[in-house]
Amino acid sequence: LFAHVEMAPGDPILGLTEQYLADPRPNKVNLGVGIYVDEAGRVPLLECVREVEQALARDPRPRGYLPIDGLPAYDRATQKLLFGADSPLLAAGRVATAQTIGGSGALRVGADLLRQILGPGAKVAISSPSWGNHHVVFRTAGFELLEYRYYDPASKGVDHAGLLEDLGRLQPGTVVLLHACCHNPTGVDLDATQWHQVVALLKERHLLPFVDIAYQGFDRGTERDALAIRLLGEAGVDAFVVANSYSKSFSLYGERVGALSFVGADREEAARLRSRIKATIRANYSSPAAHGALLVAGVLESDELRARWEGELGQMRGRIHAMRAALVDKLAARGAPQYGFFTRQAGMFSYSGLSRAQVERLREEYAIYALSTGRICVAALNEANIDYVAGAVAAVSKG
Ligand code: PMP
Repeated sequence: LFAHVEMAPGDPILGLTEQYLADPRPNKVNLGVGIYVDEAGRVPLLECVREVEQALARDPRPRGYLPIDGLPAYDRATQKLLFGADSPLLAAGRVATAQTIGGSGALRVGADLLRQILGPGAKVAISSPSWGNHHVVFRTAGFELLEYRYYDPASKGVDHAGLLEDLGRLQPGTVVLLHACCHNPTGVDLDATQWHQVVALLKERHLLPFVDIAYQGFDRGTERDALAIRLLGEAGVDAFVVANSYSKSFSLYGERVGALSFVGADREEAARLRSRIKATIRANYSSPAAHGALLVAGVLESDELRARWEGELGQMRGRIHAMRAALVDKLAARGAPQYGFFTRQAGMFSYSGLSRAQVERLREEYAIYALSTGRICVAALNEANIDYVAGAVAAVSKG
């Protein structure tokens, strides 16, 4: 029965990691990673998380199922973080939030439910470029995929005119997938003025915003990084969706902590949406896992631990900023001043502008691994490797 089953296409990022691991050169550097690593190259275990985990271990509890939409304290804390503690949307009961299996689970449950709501002609517009899983998830859910212009290779910034033009051409009811901050893969974000314009356009054209926020706190802080969500609320957009992930902001990748929020026109609509989200989760995996949600809720519910989390998140953010600034300085000192844009980009990813051929040279001559698109993970830089990387990038940039 399985004789005709074909191999699924390989994941290019995982393939690169395998190649990196097999590379015997001692000075190798993997800039292809998709996670935050600390100065020592390790995935951090945050102190605030460790503290909650130890408290849980001291007081072990029976392992019943969580409700279908997850731990209530986790959902409440998530809503405040995304929409703001004083959000009128929350006060009006307009938001239905459910804990999901990571941000990916939120995207998938959200896409499945939207496809049910919108029917067979459902369309989604995705930024060009975007995180590869966006296409996979929405295509698998039965959406027709469209793209809108986003990254401008010439300016290494946003093609804002192209973006507005493309969004302006979409049919009403089209889902528009937006990265709230720290755009993956480019690191290029909209500024506040641009967000205002995009939000006004989305409202005017009756488009359906779907905000993916996987790096809240990695650029300027948890409040500022949620600007897109806050503006959608303030503008009076009466329907939008948010998928969020704590994988990066709590360094809890393997615990699969995320959430899906649907914003409806009023409390009654939100109640119907909540029931539909739950039905979709039920059909997927029945209910989410408890441990990661207990950790996140434990931190966010305590004023003291929450403050500590903001501090630890600030350290991760600070290190990313420091590495960006140092890379620009070191490249300029080596005769490559054209990389100043690295400090204008946000989050841990950067489109470096390196060509496929330059990326290949970095790998072959210097054992430095980056994605063939030129995406690098800035968090993979540290005091020990940054001079070597800057020297190599400057060398391949001279041709
Ligand atoms: N959205 C974006 C843009 C991401 O980069 C990621 C993680 N790489 C996710 C969503 C999903 O995160 P999670 O690991 O929580 O599923």
